[in-house]
Amino acid sequence: MIWKIPLSKPDIKESDKKEVLGVLETPYLSLGPKLAEFEKAAARFTGVKYAVGVNSGTAALHLIIKALGIGPGDEVITTPFSFISSANCFVYEGARPVFVDINEKTLNIDAGKIEEKITTKTRAILAVDVFGQPADWAKLETIAKKHKLFLIEDSAEALGSVYKRKKCGSFGDAAIFSFYPNKQITTGEGGMILTDKKEIADFCWSAANQGRKAVASKWLEHVRLGYNYRLDEMSAALGLSQLKRIETVIRQREKIAGLYNKKLSRVSGIEVLEKKHKISRFVYVVKLAKGLNRNRIISEMAKKGIQCSNYFQPIHLQPFYQKEFGFKAGLFPIAEDAGRRTLALPFFNNLSEKEIDFVVSCLKKTIR
Ligand SMILES: *Cc1c(COP(=O)(O)O)cnc(C)c1O
Repeated sequence: MIWKIPLSKPDIKESDKKEVLGVLETPYLSLGPKLAEFEKAAARFTGVKYAVGVNSGTAALHLIIKALGIGPGDEVITTPFSFISSANCFVYEGARPVFVDINEKTLNIDAGKIEEKITTKTRAILAVDVFGQPADWAKLETIAKKHKLFLIEDSAEALGSVYKRKKCGSFGDAAIFSFYPNKQITTGEGGMILTDKKEIADFCWSAANQGRKAVASKWLEHVRLGYNYRLDEMSAALGLSQLKRIETVIRQREKIAGLYNKKLSRVSGIEVLEKKHKISRFVYVVKLAKGLNRNRIISEMAKKGIQCSNYFQPIHLQPFYQKEFGFKAGLFPIAEDAGRRTLALPFFNNLSEKEIDFVVSCLKKTIR
């Protein structure tokens, strides 16, 4: 389907294209200088010591789980209201998901409900900065420290968000970003691991590079079971070029969100989400009043050429998770309620005010 107004749209400038084409003039299409440059810029931007670029956010999460040695018999506490990878990453390694319901306002894991779920098998807490809204890192750090648990930050949706003067991507033992095309910046497919811990960074570099030693003297020597999770040079060049204007991107998106907020604030049936901290917005999401049929609204909007979405269907209700772990509806009522009522509207850097007006007027008519 060709949308009149899509849900998201990457913002590729002439300067980005030039950088990518520049790589194609060199012999280094992988394992060249652009990846290292991109990693350095991302680490500096986030305020951490090390960054390891990989070919997806999911791969980044998976490598952190491997680096921390999380595996069969372990439990990981996490949020059900997220994209599937934030739980899949440790299920890959045989660990069990222990979900904790979310806070109604922030839609992030409710830190106040975590301690009652900790058992002798709990190894880690994996929190997500959902839609760019930082999780409650102060509380999460206290709990992780008290119970000697690893803390992992899935910051895939929060590049540039700030929590108490620290950037998202800098919390816990390690964090990730994703550069999938609907994120704040993109490399096509791509992701990044961020950490202050050298052991974690070295392990991730090695495991992403077929298990080679971090400083490879012998190219065909493999010291551990590794993967090919490398980010190629064209992608790294695109990411680096986009990261250079991230502050402009955040401002543009904030302006668009502000326009939506203003135009939707007095529309009955629609609740605009509260914003805490300085947020780099991933999507623009509203909550519909109880009783409104979200799926009907999505299909009515689609008929007008406007793409909306149901971010997120809670992870515990995904068919695989129900079948594999026996999760059922009713276990996490706040996440489930959010899952039924949240509606993501078109949101991208160059969305014009005219387009916003069209979305808002169609939405008003559909709700009425
Ligand atoms: C996008 C996303 C990911 C995974 O990113 P990919 O790069 O698509 O693998 C992980 N977690 C969250 C919360 C995401 O939104």
